[in-house]
Amino acid sequence: MAQVELQNVRKSYGNLTVIPDLDLTIPSGEFVCLVGPSGSGKSTLLRMIAGLEDITGGTIRVDGEDITNTDPSDRDMAMVFQTYALYPHMTVEQNMSFALRMRGEDRALIDRRVGEAVSMLGLEGLEKRKPGQLSGGQRQRVAMGRCIVRNPKLFLFDEPLSNLDAKLRAQTRLEIRRLHGKLGATSIFVTHDQVEAMTMADRIALLDHGKIQQVGSPKDLYLNPANRFVAGFLGTPEMSIFRGTVSVSDGKVAFDGPQAMTLPASPERIALLSERIGAGQTVDLGIRPEHFQIVPAGGDIGSTIVVDVIEWLGHEIFVFGELGGTGIAVRAAEGDAGGERLPQQGETIAILPARDAWHLFDADDGRNLLN
Ligand code: ADP
Repeated sequence: MAQVELQNVRKSYGNLTVIPDLDLTIPSGEFVCLVGPSGSGKSTLLRMIAGLEDITGGTIRVDGEDITNTDPSDRDMAMVFQTYALYPHMTVEQNMSFALRMRGEDRALIDRRVGEAVSMLGLEGLEKRKPGQLSGGQRQRVAMGRCIVRNPKLFLFDEPLSNLDAKLRAQTRLEIRRLHGKLGATSIFVTHDQVEAMTMADRIALLDHGKIQQVGSPKDLYLNPANRFVAGFLGTPEMSIFRGTVSVSDGKVAFDGPQAMTLPASPERIALLSERIGAGQTVDLGIRPEHFQIVPAGGDIGSTIVVDVIEWLGHEIFVFGELGGTGIAVRAAEGDAGGERLPQQGETIAILPARDAWHLFDADDGRNLLN
């Protein structure tokens, strides 16, 4: 286990700066996901930690020791890649023991470590097979086993699940989390997939253009996004965003935009809003699908939308439509259209945001004005 500290870390390729100045501390034993869109600098950052990429500026410390210029082979880290990079002519056992054999470790120790990893990863019975005789998921487990036997200070994962089909991806993500529970090793996991980050991370560091937008628990980022980018990146279907202005009168918050909307609010939230937001200031209103309530149409509350698509997922149902020309997603439930009924395609429904469950972002820089 190891604590990792990145301080003022920078990376440029010639004139192109891809990571301007980044600080991040990862406590010992934590599972951190670096997530962000393609090109946001996740892999570059991970490769700098591994020592596979030169660092333009700044310092990387592991357990207080400066390893910025340490050779990758002396960093005591293990990396799992998207491509498994197994030796095709070696068996599972030989692939897994390779690094230890190269180090000249004792045979008994190698057998014990490989045996432990094989049973931890459920690879019993496959020890004598070669990679070509394994499924993609099994190969990925061998790749992880190869890391586990080395007992490294730090596990680095570079999009290791991208080559697996959806079902196997979900299963492997669970296995990696279980493994982390057993080993407790500090782990840094790069992914562009927000679901992977949400489900696996103790903490998420969300990157955009080489800058950390927010670091925190999945719940914290989801419920209290620092800005519009974080809010939009996490959650499917995406949060709906409307540009307009807000005003308070008679203890009520009114949004005026493509379509007027009432925003139910507690007195505390109204006080915060009055303090933070000027009259007539343009804001972006953000509401997640599950934070809309469907209310009886034709009443005096709620905004109306026409349902144009319904996604029925079994455990969740989403209806989609438009509000003043902006796309909107609403989580629905049986009974929302009266009786046992679900809203139907083409039906007009009325929606109302849940109390305090809406966000206001600065229209220019996107920061969350009520956080
Ligand atoms: P991510 O892993 O988030 O997809 P990367 O770390 O791979 O992003 O890349 C970050 C940025 O650095 C991208 O804009 C990419 O084009 C650029 N980049 C990566 N490697 C090089 C390179 N060798 N030379 C120039 N630019 C690069």
